[in-house]
Amino acid sequence: EQSPVKYKRVLLKLSGESLMGPDAFGINRETIQSTVEDIKEAYDMGVQIGIVVGGGNIFRGVALGSTGMERTQGDHMGMLATLMNALALQDALRKNGVEARVQSALNIERIAESYIRGKALRHLEKGRIVIFAAGTGNPYFTTDTTAALRGAEIGADIVLKATMVDGIYSADPKKVPDATFYKTITFDEVIKRDLKVMDATAFALCREQNLPIKVFNIRKKGSIARVCRGEDEGTLVYN
Ligand code: UDP
Repeated sequence: EQSPVKYKRVLLKLSGESLMGPDAFGINRETIQSTVEDIKEAYDMGVQIGIVVGGGNIFRGVALGSTGMERTQGDHMGMLATLMNALALQDALRKNGVEARVQSALNIERIAESYIRGKALRHLEKGRIVIFAAGTGNPYFTTDTTAALRGAEIGADIVLKATMVDGIYSADPKKVPDATFYKTITFDEVIKRDLKVMDATAFALCREQNLPIKVFNIRKKGSIARVCRGEDEGTLVYN
């Protein structure tokens, strides 16, 4: 017997890297398919899901800075990269029988709806996944911050931060073999111990809005559904 759903509405943050799989850049077919199957599992449990997708697998504004490009220009490119990932994700979701809409923070109306909070809420209520593309629409921000922002805006119960590691440790487990793994940790403790969870802006927003964050490993099959059922998976950050 499976436990019932604990979180009814979630904001899932997928990094660009999480779509990349074993490739050096771009979108890996098997990886996106596997991710979408996991999303569908939670979706089929009746969880309302908003997704913020990153763009690091295609472009990072900060990285472009080292080539001499103006930061804001690079960030515009980074935001467009997130839109490409959002379209790929929408396509993969649809192929798996999940209805999904893309809402973009930058108006590109031939390709995607523009972000309108009320419309996003209606989609969620009607059982559609909403993919929030183009970050916040502003340079100097990240998609982690977008996840915190959209999560707060849609009244999500939790932000699910998909990563390549099992959760939060007291130190890098690759360097410190006996590092402590936290099943739960408070926002204050994360600050005190100077642990990296999300960037500072995203973290501050979640903390202030009392929006818990679950850090979990997207590479573990079925992890999204387990997290949504409140099972023992990853690290919960709470106030
Ligand atoms: N970006 C931005 N404003 C935002 C969100 C993203 O300018 O609100 C740009 C920024 O250049 C960033 C890139 O988009 O480097 C990709 O986002 P991010 O690095 O957060 O992607 P991830 O690391 O999650 O793949």
